Amino acid sequence: MTTSTNILPPLPRNIRQVKQLQEASRRLIVVPRDPERGRYLVASARGSDRHYQVAVHRDGLSGHCTCPWAHYGGINCKHVLAALRAEYEPWGALSFWPTSDDARRQHRHVVRGERLYATVRPRQRRQRGQRA
Ligand SMILES: [Zn+2]
Repeated sequence: MTTSTNILPPLPRNIRQVKQLQEASRRLIVVPRDPERGRYLVASARGSDRHYQVAVHRDGLSGHCTCPWAHYGGINCKHVLAALRAEYEPWGALSFWPTSDDARRQHRHVVRGERLYATVRPRQRRQRGQRA
């Protein structure tokens, strides 16, 4: 008698996993498709000829992706993280954290997501004192 076929609750991600995903997401090319509605195309890491479709929800730091990992239940894959960073581009640079404690320690604006947190670092002006 076993209950091993039950779906286990998802393990919280650790900081290293999140950092690795974040690093991987930085190498991806994000093409806005319908950014008003959170739609992006993200190039596969293996070859830029393959693209995955990503739909992100800005408020929830979550998204849907057509990659195999997401298909099998993975959430917030590197494609979604890449699209989220594009989504937040006007506000600043996102950094991702696995827990709210990790995020709070950054003393930045915290965005709470689905098993993921992000902090927003406002973009620095290229040149200080420059006026239009
Ligand atoms: Zn994906």
